[in-house]
Amino acid sequence: MAKQQHNFEAETGRILELLTHSIYSNKEIFLREIISNSSDAIDKARLKSLTDTNFLKEGEQFEIKLDFDVKDNTIIITDNGIGMTEDELHKNLGTIAKSGTKEFMEKLEAAKESTEHNLIGQFGVGFYSAFMVADKVEVTSNSANNWDAAFKWTSDGKSWYEVSQALKAWRWTEIKIFVNEANKELVSDWKLRELVKKYSNYVGTPIMMIEQDSRNEEDKKKEPNKKFGYEKVNETTAIWKKWANSVKDEEYQEFYKTVSMDFNKPLGHIHSSVEGMVNYKTLLYIPLEKNMFNDITDPNKEYGPKLYVQNVLILENAKELLPVWLRFVSWVVETSDLPLNISREMLQSNAVLDKIKKALVKKVIAELKKMSRKEPENYAKFLENYGQVLKEWIHYEADLKESIAEVLTFRSMLEGKEISLEEYLEKLPEVKKEECCKDEKSEEKKEKKEGEDKECCGSGKCHDSKDEAKKTIYYITGKTQAEVLASPYLAQFRKEKVDVLLLTDHIDSFIVQTLTEYKWAQLKSVTSSDISLWEETKEDKEKQEKTKKKFKDLLELTKNTIGSEKIEKVELNEKLGDALGALKTPEGWVDPQMEKMMKAMGQPVPAQKRILELNPDNKLVKAMQKEFKDDIKSKRLADIMKYAYNQAILLEWGELEDVAEFVALTNKFAGGYIK
Ligand code: ADP
Repeated sequence: MAKQQHNFEAETGRILELLTHSIYSNKEIFLREIISNSSDAIDKARLKSLTDTNFLKEGEQFEIKLDFDVKDNTIIITDNGIGMTEDELHKNLGTIAKSGTKEFMEKLEAAKESTEHNLIGQFGVGFYSAFMVADKVEVTSNSANNWDAAFKWTSDGKSWYEVSQALKAWRWTEIKIFVNEANKELVSDWKLRELVKKYSNYVGTPIMMIEQDSRNEEDKKKEPNKKFGYEKVNETTAIWKKWANSVKDEEYQEFYKTVSMDFNKPLGHIHSSVEGMVNYKTLLYIPLEKNMFNDITDPNKEYGPKLYVQNVLILENAKELLPVWLRFVSWVVETSDLPLNISREMLQSNAVLDKIKKALVKKVIAELKKMSRKEPENYAKFLENYGQVLKEWIHYEADLKESIAEVLTFRSMLEGKEISLEEYLEKLPEVKKEECCKDEKSEEKKEKKEGEDKECCGSGKCHDSKDEAKKTIYYITGKTQAEVLASPYLAQFRKEKVDVLLLTDHIDSFIVQTLTEYKWAQLKSVTSSDISLWEETKEDKEKQEKTKKKFKDLLELTKNTIGSEKIEKVELNEKLGDALGALKTPEGWVDPQMEKMMKAMGQPVPAQKRILELNPDNKLVKAMQKEFKDDIKSKRLADIMKYAYNQAILLEWGELEDVAEFVALTNKFAGGYIK
């Protein structure tokens, strides 16, 4: 077969140009990228060898060989992995098939020296990094899928590559890197060993180099052409198989890069070895920074740990082992309790995996709890990046919802920062009326207390179950912080200095439907009807009843004037501060936030009604009442009602139906419309 020259696709050429010129400083990582490809190819071959008895030659071991030649400045990496066919050489090395190429290029161009190394390897440009140090690269391969022919791919990494026939041999791939003048110091025994130790020590396959000649001069003279064998230069014990206390921080960090493609430090890791009913070893990382190339919001994204069974990588993304709301975690699991030939279908209902999964979920939660205490600043950053995914757990995992809620934080109105539910509880006044929890052991005492409508609780706090506000976590939901902070429903909380959690994540409206209690407290929306933060006297209550009666007909008329298709009912609320009125969602109805989310998910949502609350102490509401008495049919009365409704919409940053009408009304009021 004659040599055939091909031009790189325009985008590939452009990436090569970017990679090889100027912008990337840490050139050494090219070896890690090439070795990592070889290791992947060997993983695939190892899996194949399980079912194909002729796959390995007698005595053949999987290995990566690393050779060099100072005479022609070459570094040669050979593996006996799966190999590539002619087609695959074109497809894998001639194009950059990944969809995000354009994005990558933009990032690469914009990247600063310090961060750009994060990008290499994340877009499948790993192989091309060889051109950072090379004038030319040759890849010769004999694929396990086509034993009969071998092919050679050659390129100068500029605009073209060629593929030609090569000498057939045993299944293998050889990458020959013709190192350029500027980087020739890489072509040395000690340098290559150093690079392997630094970047590829954790690779599970042996990396073999020619033994070093450590003889003295005399011995060297005696046998100048002595042949040396190959020796292993990396540690092949997989990192997760080691004892946790024998692994250094840098090793964990280095391995994290390979499983996550995230080059930042993770928040933490869990490394454990379990023996008993099920046996497994795992190394799992919780990220800290957002990983822009591992988009957890992308529903098509593959996720899940690498699953090894008896040293063999069985699945790259064993999502059966990972609840979807843990998809930000990167990990490796190895077990000897599964058969090597296990299929994806078998994995779906496997008791061993179920046990491992359950145990690991618990471990992750425990680790998150630990990190929230040990490294609060980092943990806050983690929550900023992944808190929303954690919240999904609450919705899906009824059994775990309290444990998950424990590791989350929410914005506190009073403190202006994120606080945990635990911190909220700590601020609640303890009701020390009774000593009901003092002696937890006394069953007799407990029973007596129960009869008296008092509760004992695990936390040791005692409280009177009638004492609402003292065992309630209040929250408000909305689209933004600014929006919720403008809500008149917060007025009484500000006045009484009772904290409210400001829930503005899009998923929060769902969460509060599931998480109605936390430990001994209930979660309650500030818009609930029965909230009173202060003890109401008999006189207060009588006054309220009187006002209610006085306003009854007016409220009914207001509802009909605005439209009973929009408004379920109109009520009075004297705890709205200075506001004229406010809107809230009737219990069991979908709030505007949730309505939007459901519509976005394509779910049909019937037209929703709201409750309009009017503040009887407000000047305009008083004027409304007066107008009502004077002339029930007056235009001015209808105008005040519409104005109040529109103001309530604006206070929750909603959209007015008729802005022009509202502006006209505002001008009328400014011009002394109301006497
Ligand atoms: P990535 O490894 O991220 O997919 P690379 O550009 O490094 O991207 O490699 C492109 C592809 O070339 C690999 O996905 C793999 O299919 C193939 N490849 C590279 N090196 C080897 C090798 N030593 N043996 C077999 N296939 C290889």
